Amino acid sequence: MKKTILLFASLLLGSAAALAQMTCVVAHRGYWDTEGSAQNSIRALVKADSIDCYGSEFDVWMTADKKLVVNHDPDINGIHIETSKARDVLAQVLQNGETVPTLEQYLNRSLSLHTRLILELKPHTDKNHEEEAVKAVVKLVKDRGLEANIEYITFSREAFANLIKYAPKGTPVFFLNGDLTPREIKAMGGAGIDYHFSVLKRNPWWIAECHALNLRVNAWTVNKPDDIKWCIDHQVDIITTNAPKLVQQMLIEQ
Ligand code: MG
Repeated sequence: MKKTILLFASLLLGSAAALAQMTCVVAHRGYWDTEGSAQNSIRALVKADSIDCYGSEFDVWMTADKKLVVNHDPDINGIHIETSKARDVLAQVLQNGETVPTLEQYLNRSLSLHTRLILELKPHTDKNHEEEAVKAVVKLVKDRGLEANIEYITFSREAFANLIKYAPKGTPVFFLNGDLTPREIKAMGGAGIDYHFSVLKRNPWWIAECHALNLRVNAWTVNKPDDIKWCIDHQVDIITTNAPKLVQQMLIEQ
C-alpha cells in the first residue's frame, strides 16, 4: 500500500514537473526547410501541422488595393507590396513553385489542420493603412471561425495596440520588438513577449517576471542547439524556430 502511494505521488510530481517544463514549438514562416516547401507557402503551413507543431508562424501585408497577402519582406521581386496591386503581388512565384498566397487562401487551408496560426502583421509605412489591415485581418479570422486558433504578433507598437483593441477579448497578442518591459506589455493588455532570444539572454529575469504577471514568453528565431537548450532550461514557453524537428527532439531528450 505504502509503495502504491509513493508511486502515485512520484507520478503526480513527475507529471507536474513535465507540465511546468512543457515548451511549445512554433515553425518560423512555417516548416519550410524541408522538401517541397518554401517560406510562407501554404505547403509550409501543412508541413508544420504534419509534424505536430504547436503553431505555424507567417507574415501578413495589405496591398494598396486592400488585399491581405502572405509574405515576409516588404517587397517581392522588386514589387513593393504596400503600394502595389494584389494582382501583381499574387503573380509572384515562391521557391517551391506556389504563387504568393492570399491570407484568405492561407486561412482556408488551415481549417482542416490542428496547428495554431501565429499571424505576424508586418509594420506598414502608412499607419492608417496598417490600422485598416488590422481590422481586415480580425474580420477575416472571425468570418472563417478561426478566432480560437489564432495568435497575433507584431513589431509595430500601433498594430500591437490595435490588435488588442479590435480582436475579441482574450485573443493572444504578443509584441516582437524587445523594447517593452513585461509590466508595460501587461498594462497594454498583451498576452506576452515574443523577443529575440538575445534580448532574453540580456534580461533573463523578464521570464520569471512574465510568469508572475501571467504572461507567456516566446523566443525567436532559435535554431542552434546551445540557444535552444538555454531557452528550455530557462522555461521559455514557446520557441519559434527554423528547425522545429530539432527543437522537438531536444525536448524529448531533455
Ligand atoms: Mg515573421
